[in-house]
Amino acid sequence: MNIGIVVKNMNGYFYVQSPDGEVHECKVRGRLKQNRYTLLVGDRVHYSEDGFIESILPRINSMVRPAVANIDQVILVVAAHEPDINELLFNKLLVMIEHADIPVVICINKCDLADENTRELVDRYQTIGYTVIRTSTYVKEGLEELRSTLEGKITAFAGPSGVGKSSLLNALEPNFAFQTGDVSDKIKRGRHTTRHASLFSLNEESFIMDTPGFSAIEFNDVSLERLPSLFPEFLSCEVDCKFSPCYHDKEPVCGVKQAVDNGVVFLSRYEAYLAIREEIMNQKKRSR
Ligand code: GDP
Ligand code: ZN
Repeated sequence: MNIGIVVKNMNGYFYVQSPDGEVHECKVRGRLKQNRYTLLVGDRVHYSEDGFIESILPRINSMVRPAVANIDQVILVVAAHEPDINELLFNKLLVMIEHADIPVVICINKCDLADENTRELVDRYQTIGYTVIRTSTYVKEGLEELRSTLEGKITAFAGPSGVGKSSLLNALEPNFAFQTGDVSDKIKRGRHTTRHASLFSLNEESFIMDTPGFSAIEFNDVSLERLPSLFPEFLSCEVDCKFSPCYHDKEPVCGVKQAVDNGVVFLSRYEAYLAIREEIMNQKKRSR
């Protein structure tokens, strides 16, 4: 039996890439068909010589929007400038990725435009423990580091529009030929009309998801209890909280608030925490 990765789902066919890089057009065997909606791009499958998918191998994860399985990591891209980073939005994306429990690497692109603020930003997120890569497609910086981060993995790129995601992918593999430029151009050219995610193969073992994941931020399924755990640097401060659980909000004697006062936890992160917390509370109120 052959093993491969589902890289595309189109018109009832699943396209399975085998380890030698060949792509095979497959149908789903009757037994699997009953729950065919569960077969996702990213799934590792057994398939037969005559082009039938026989079984799905165990997944490491799966997502509904976008509908993909086995994402190994998300590269969260922001720009040093143009557009300037919106740290609240950035933290919301970061929290969603933490919530999905997928490893994340931060990529600061357009570092040809970097200044003191960019350096502080890099410092801040490295201090928290995130891996930060600085790239520029213009002056060809950090591209090799980015490439080695992708090796052997299925990677999704996320981040606001205009930060250079398409440019980065094209810099890694000119054959990708992603459309770059301003947003209205892209919509006109129909880039966002694809309904299914698909995987692009960088080489036999490395894949990139073509649709930006995590663009819709909804905190519906994040509970107020879970939220603090999505800020990894809060963990070591919580031992000093008087209450358990502590929501690090109005409670007196709070280790996280102390850490903010001492500059151990960054204020921008704590503010993002409070903003997301409020958003969740408002959503709860509305749904009541
Ligand atoms: P996407 O929306 O995230 O896919 O962004 P694009 O790849 O379409 O890039 C948006 C704009 O940023 C384009 O005009 C690119 O030419 C520009 N851009 C991409 N990479 C860089 C870079 O490293 N430095 C600078 N200064 N501009 C860049
Ligand atoms: Zn607390």
